[in-house]
Amino acid sequence: MTRAISLHDVSKAFTRGVPVVDRLSLDIAPGEFLVLLGPSGCGKSTVLRMIAGLEEIDDGRLFLDGEYANDLPPSDRDMAMVFQNFALYPSMTSRDNIGFPLRIESPGADPAPRVDATARMLGIEDLLDRFPAQLSGGERQRVAMGRAIARHPSAFLMDEPLSNLDAKLRNRLRAEISQLTRELGVTTVYVTHDQAEAMSLGDRVAVLRGGVLQQVGTPRAVYSLPSNVFVAAFVGTPRINLLRGLVRAPLDGAMTISLGKQFLRLPEPLSLDHRLLRVQQGREVIVGLRSEAVRIAKPAAASTGEVALTGLVEHLEFQGHEVLVHFNTGSSPAVVPELEAPRPRPERPDRRRRRDGTVLHRLRVRAGARRAGTVATLDPPGKAPRPPSTEPRVPGDLIVRTTPDIPLRHGMQVPLLVDLAHLFVFDQSGERICPSPARLPDLEE
Ligand code: ADP
Ligand code: MG
Repeated sequence: MTRAISLHDVSKAFTRGVPVVDRLSLDIAPGEFLVLLGPSGCGKSTVLRMIAGLEEIDDGRLFLDGEYANDLPPSDRDMAMVFQNFALYPSMTSRDNIGFPLRIESPGADPAPRVDATARMLGIEDLLDRFPAQLSGGERQRVAMGRAIARHPSAFLMDEPLSNLDAKLRNRLRAEISQLTRELGVTTVYVTHDQAEAMSLGDRVAVLRGGVLQQVGTPRAVYSLPSNVFVAAFVGTPRINLLRGLVRAPLDGAMTISLGKQFLRLPEPLSLDHRLLRVQQGREVIVGLRSEAVRIAKPAAASTGEVALTGLVEHLEFQGHEVLVHFNTGSSPAVVPELEAPRPRPERPDRRRRRDGTVLHRLRVRAGARRAGTVATLDPPGKAPRPPSTEPRVPGDLIVRTTPDIPLRHGMQVPLLVDLAHLFVFDQSGERICPSPARLPDLEE
């Protein structure tokens, strides 16, 4: 049996008035692999623990297979959890560790057949008589997985199960987990702060920030149509380039986005998406360019939809199969606060909220809460740009990927082409304007 898990407006606060999870709604289909992704401290483990029944739900409702389950004891939920720190009993062999939950569940029955079958599935038959201290990290995590699988639970809840492993092992186990859960067809909720892991594992990815759901969708949708600048910046490596821009839309039809010293001229006739920018005329926006949106080439090589910029090489990051070139284009990077340490701004007027019960007020509070504060920071005109305090300073304002064979040197002025089909524009509060928020991800695929 595999199960459907639904959260309806679920909230949790450990300190009154400071929600750690804020009105989270999610429907997880039977057999689905859903990844909860977000920076450390954003409430991922708390959500998982509420699903498991290890943490009380303050507000909202949890449904398991459509049944109200807020008060269901953990032991009746038929879910198995896998943690980051392996959590094996040191005095038990692998066989006993895997068999332990089976012995608790059905005291009279012999766990051996199930333990053996599970060990075969995970390829750990030869580890069954060893103690945890005699196992490597990867082997221990396989045994921990075995303990979760042997019970044939109706859902797996995995909390950063690979974080303590080295990169190579992590990749291998990632593939194994993916294969195994698909074979078993068991609903899996997988928590991670690692976007690459989330993208490679999830049927869908739910991005959390400060306890607030930002977006849920397929990895492709979250990457190609991020709902706001936080999601855009959190998902994808190298991180999306975010530049402060100013929309200029004179009435004659031409529209440009000024990027400090240079500008992007949008091709005419304006596309439907670009027409949406007209209302931003005279306003600051955030331009998002993923590294695949920019290539090194002369203006003469531009194809339809590409516009020219130039960049000064400030730094070269050699990666073997490719080089990340940090260009200075004379623009200023936009700052996305809380990317590394996101705590929701506690909503101060807590008492007022209760007193002020107008629908409009409630909607406003709700909209604000959903975003967990402004996603991006644009300083008022005239003020010096705020230094990106939480992030290390990265040289240049535009990072472009290229092959190692292109001869580039520090200090070179290089022609660039920007593919406007890959242009993102976000408004001052970080919400996506362009491509149009109404665009359905499936149309992109
Ligand atoms: P994540 O798993 O995304 O790193 P957590 O769900 O563990 O985040 O924690 C979210 C926030 O809730 C953090 O600020 C954390 O300090 C706080 N928190 C978690 N558990 C407790 C607890 N038992 N008591 C008080 N605060 C807690
Ligand atoms: Mg956690």
